[in-house]
Amino acid sequence: MFKKILIANRGEIAVRIIRSCKEMGIKTVSVYSDVDQDSVHVHMADEAICIGPAQSKKSYLNIDNIISAALVTEAEAIHPGYGFLSENKELIEACIKNDIMFIGPDMNHLEIMGDKSRARKAMMEAGVPVVPGSKEATNNGEEALEIAKTIGYPLMIKAASGGGGRGMRIVHNEGEFIGKFNMAKSESIAAFNDDSMYLEKFIENPRHIEFQILADSHGNIIHLGERDCSLQRRNQKVLEEAPCDIISEEQRKEMGDMALRAAKAVGYVSAGTIEFLLDKDGRFYFIEMNTRIQVEHPITELITGVDLIKEQIKIAYGEKLDISQEDIRINGHAIECRINAEDPDANFRPCPGSIEGYFAPGGYGIRVDTHIYDGYIIPPTYDSMVAKLIVWGRDRNEAINRMKRALDEMVIIGIKTNIEFQKLILNNDKYLNNNIDTSFIEKVIFSDN
Ligand code: ADP
Ligand code: ADP
Ligand code: MG
Repeated sequence: MFKKILIANRGEIAVRIIRSCKEMGIKTVSVYSDVDQDSVHVHMADEAICIGPAQSKKSYLNIDNIISAALVTEAEAIHPGYGFLSENKELIEACIKNDIMFIGPDMNHLEIMGDKSRARKAMMEAGVPVVPGSKEATNNGEEALEIAKTIGYPLMIKAASGGGGRGMRIVHNEGEFIGKFNMAKSESIAAFNDDSMYLEKFIENPRHIEFQILADSHGNIIHLGERDCSLQRRNQKVLEEAPCDIISEEQRKEMGDMALRAAKAVGYVSAGTIEFLLDKDGRFYFIEMNTRIQVEHPITELITGVDLIKEQIKIAYGEKLDISQEDIRINGHAIECRINAEDPDANFRPCPGSIEGYFAPGGYGIRVDTHIYDGYIIPPTYDSMVAKLIVWGRDRNEAINRMKRALDEMVIIGIKTNIEFQKLILNNDKYLNNNIDTSFIEKVIFSDN
């Protein structure tokens, strides 16, 4: 096994990766920016190296500095976490050049799946259902408008390089097409330095259902069931659960097989997620593959008992998967609430600052993945997610009641958070009846309150 791994990330995911490494007897190297010198991941790792100033571009996105840190500490592998460089070709290239293992996909898997328009094409060829839409990406609004006529409205304009809900716009009619196209395109250029856009029919009130995949370099591949991530604000996930109680065993098998087909079509190796939209009539469509560990991976861990980061590391080292599809048994129900430093009463404006008091919920079935502590100062520079509260219950009902109780216990003083907002969701009758879709937060929560 690897003797030492460098974690090219920060916050809760860096802490999460260090924990698995420790249990595997692997030494860890953390990297950090100036403002993160008192962050937990810095203290928890065996070694820590400053890689630059606060601004991500100069630190957590600075490939040269990260590679240098790996070389001086003699780390054999780099784990990128999620966000930052987790889906970045240049980091993989730099790793290859410097004989460092990248814990993630191969270059060619990333090239196909990282371009969402190319991925659609590959999936169509493999017989995986995709959302009806354009065949090729384009940066030309007039050209896209012609394609839009063949798809019909409403439709979505999406950035081929998009992620984190950015670079996409709903278009309701032809009149607003060009304006929205240019908005989505500018957003994509700013966020991803890419202007390729593609179109998809807008699926009305779908569920977002995604399948966790593990594939090794020996041709073994399994899925670990699904996660329902329908509760979103601005196309970003807020609360996730697993499994999805409204799909039948038959449908789970059908979607799971399709997820395996999608990953196999590109010969995928590593941990990954196949995302689908499930419409009201039970039809499902591939929307994208995430070639990395995801924020919401712990809910799958709680219902399968599999440590996904350990598996990802073992796969990168070249080991064979020692779990088969038959070994995967879904046990109980898990829910994750993303706890963000933001003000729901001020349009969810980020609220960085000093934490003056912190109490973590506990007890049976509770897991808190976080990097915050009493006195920690949340810098304004990075993502506003400060903790993930994850619960397990024997069934959905028990998990919900446990989550409510855990949210009541959780105390974060000094900054505004979305804890009360999460409670609104968990106390809503429609949510309790599992009558949800991707418009739930916008339509139900915002209109009721
Ligand atoms: P998931 O929650 O399913 O893992 P998200 O799309 O919410 O995926 O992304 C997880 C994190 O990574 C978020 O903090 C998001 O802002 C960030 N992220 C996702 N895609 C990109 C990207 N292409 N570039 C930069 N950051 C990204
Ligand atoms: P990202 O790369 O930012 O995660 P995705 O393509 O995964 O983008 O889409 C994020 C979310 O946006 C989906 O979970 C869904 O709620 C919404 N969405 C994306 N495409 C469509 C579509 N064609 N119709 C309806 N909703 C969509
Ligand atoms: Mg997505």
